[in-house]
Amino acid sequence: MSRLLEVKNLSKFYTSKQGFFGAKSETVKAVNRITFHIDEQETLGIVGESGCGKSTTGRAVLRLHEPTEGEILYRGKDLCGLSLEEMKPYRQKMQIVFQNANSALDPRWTVEQSLVEPIRLHNPEIGRQELDQRIDRLMEEVGFAPMYKKKYPHEFSGGQRQRIGIAKAISVSPEFVVCDEPVSALDVSVQAQVLNLMKKLQRERKLSYMFISHDLSVIRFISDRVGVMYAGRLVEVAETKEFFENALHPYSRVLMAAVPKPVVMDDKDELYRGIGTIAKASKEGCPFCSRCAQADGRCRAEMPEQREVTPGHFVSCHLYD
Ligand code: SF4
Repeated sequence: MSRLLEVKNLSKFYTSKQGFFGAKSETVKAVNRITFHIDEQETLGIVGESGCGKSTTGRAVLRLHEPTEGEILYRGKDLCGLSLEEMKPYRQKMQIVFQNANSALDPRWTVEQSLVEPIRLHNPEIGRQELDQRIDRLMEEVGFAPMYKKKYPHEFSGGQRQRIGIAKAISVSPEFVVCDEPVSALDVSVQAQVLNLMKKLQRERKLSYMFISHDLSVIRFISDRVGVMYAGRLVEVAETKEFFENALHPYSRVLMAAVPKPVVMDDKDELYRGIGTIAKASKEGCPFCSRCAQADGRCRAEMPEQREVTPGHFVSCHLYD
């Protein structure tokens, strides 16, 4: 498999304006110098708790949120710095599926109208007959009879709406799709249907996914490799099997321990110290040091760099220097 996307030292900072009564402006490092890659037809799962920067990363990679610094190499071409016009062909190749399908569907439009819009935008010369055939095919690909294209979003259930959202994302034949928590709002049985559909489409259309979720079982099912984010940093990346058998970063192990299991937890175990506490990045040093049971003086003073501990297994932690 060849390299599709390479992200190097990507950051996205937000600075608040100066407030009333002399309140100082503050810079939030939502994504802080993260590096990863995604190959053709590969799924990289990104997992972490709410507010860790997963969704911001997905949007920054697509330049929906303008990155503060870093490189986004798509088939070797750096997308940062491209003009709106120059970005057009990449907008077609790189799509997004949102957590809430309503974000992608206009409630006043039929499904057909919602699907026509992106196809026409990227293929203005397309004829009516070809357009109709393409929409019918899309409906069938996501499991609907073509006649359902005449319905409005409110006539579908949540899972069905998400399948329409997926149809819209693939309507312009992308190569890469950011899937931003696409099954988080669905029942477990419906989640399985949507995940299976996404796997089928990946095989048939040779898609690459960046799949964002806070749910480790979903990540395990869908991903070829897993990346763990904490406080804007990518703290561990490994192949899925290796990650679930041998997670190294203390935060990854806390995440795993937080998955409900039918056993009584030993609350004296230091490993569980981080569960349930609020993620608050330490200003200096390792962002996890205020919650980490193994933190020492060096962790509080020095930010750990990402290192390849075994082939393909990257960790940012001083324990593995
Ligand atoms: Fe814990 Fe130190 Fe590793 Fe950070 S660098 S995860 S504080 S041991």
